[in-house]
Amino acid sequence: MKILVINAGSSSLKYQLIDMDGEQVVAKGLCERVGIDGKFTHKLGDGTVVCKELEVDMPDHTTAFAQVKKALTTGEGKVINDLSEITAIGHRVVQGGSKYDRSVRIDEEVLKAVREYEVLAPLHNPACLKGIEAATETFGTEIPQVAVFDTAFHQTMPEVAYLWGLPYEYYTDYGIRRYGYHGSSHRFVSAICCELLGKPDGKGTRIITCHLGNGSSLAALKDGKVIDTTMGMTPLDGFLMGTRSGAIDPSVVTFLMEKEGLTPKQMDDVMNKKSGMLGISGVSSDDRDITAAMDEGNPRAKLAWDMRSYQILKYIGGYVAALGGLDAIVFTAGIGENQDRLRAELLEGLSYLGVKLDAEANKVRGQIQEITTPDSAVRAFVIPTNEELVIARDTKALI
Ligand code: ADP
Repeated sequence: MKILVINAGSSSLKYQLIDMDGEQVVAKGLCERVGIDGKFTHKLGDGTVVCKELEVDMPDHTTAFAQVKKALTTGEGKVINDLSEITAIGHRVVQGGSKYDRSVRIDEEVLKAVREYEVLAPLHNPACLKGIEAATETFGTEIPQVAVFDTAFHQTMPEVAYLWGLPYEYYTDYGIRRYGYHGSSHRFVSAICCELLGKPDGKGTRIITCHLGNGSSLAALKDGKVIDTTMGMTPLDGFLMGTRSGAIDPSVVTFLMEKEGLTPKQMDDVMNKKSGMLGISGVSSDDRDITAAMDEGNPRAKLAWDMRSYQILKYIGGYVAALGGLDAIVFTAGIGENQDRLRAELLEGLSYLGVKLDAEANKVRGQIQEITTPDSAVRAFVIPTNEELVIARDTKALI
């Protein structure tokens, strides 16, 4: 059975074709600058690059889909004879509100809900809808499609964790609350962590998962279920990310809007695109550039790095209190899987909990590895995430 996984952004469309017999990637690729000048990359499962940033006219998501279809069924990148070999399509949908605590088959009701939740995720949900509509136009209405929500796994959070101290009506009228994101990633790595702890059902475990990428979030899990997470109503909350500020005093927002005469959209841009590691360092949002600048003695790159570590350690301390202790901590995503310096620094910052880093094991990149010593009071693991596989598995289960 082959499943096509789609992750649609406002000007992009990422895809992976996964053969579920053996869970192998058959082909994957990316349509970028959709609606601008169109760039197309297509690779085979073994990593062979068929084309890279090829200029292709893609005025909208439907034409992008047509390009994906062409790449999968013709030429050097051909992996299937025709689209009928694809059994189902799984879509990453960012915001599923309070309604969806799991993945669902897409029907009219689901589409309506995703459309309603556009107010909560104005940058993301419209793009997800475009992806679904374009898939329907390309594949027809017969093929089953599934929505896998970023927010779903965090729906187990209790009210005390997901509400803010605003008038309660804003929650009931507008759905203002913490939803959390990266749910598929936290779910994937926490399940593996529970297995590594010898408790596959998660019962009796206290885990903190650290998804550290361009966008980053932590989740605290008790008995395998999320009890708190750092991202909020939007992915802006939490600690310093590549270009996002993370949590700040909310009054700073109104102050700056008044001082600088910024519209809500402009202020949103400042906090989402010009802040975080980029905003503080003035160098880059990319961790590799930040570390290089730090090594050259750039004080602001070092400040950005130190601020992020400090903020993450404060969240971890808070979550240890909320969990009543800690059994394991997991690092995942681009930075979490590769950045051994950050992992070492964070684990050393947790030595008060009896955490003991295994410096040799910590040299690992991108594979499952325990990085604490056998006598460490808390175990730490690197566990590579695979959000596409979560989407494919859920899609298979639902059809
Ligand atoms: P997203 O999916 O949110 O776009 P990723 O999970 O791919 O982000 O993470 C991107 C981040 O991971 C970048 O800051 C990048 O510098 C960092 N990263 C990727 N590979 C490495 C590496 N080998 N060493 C250090 N950092 C890395």
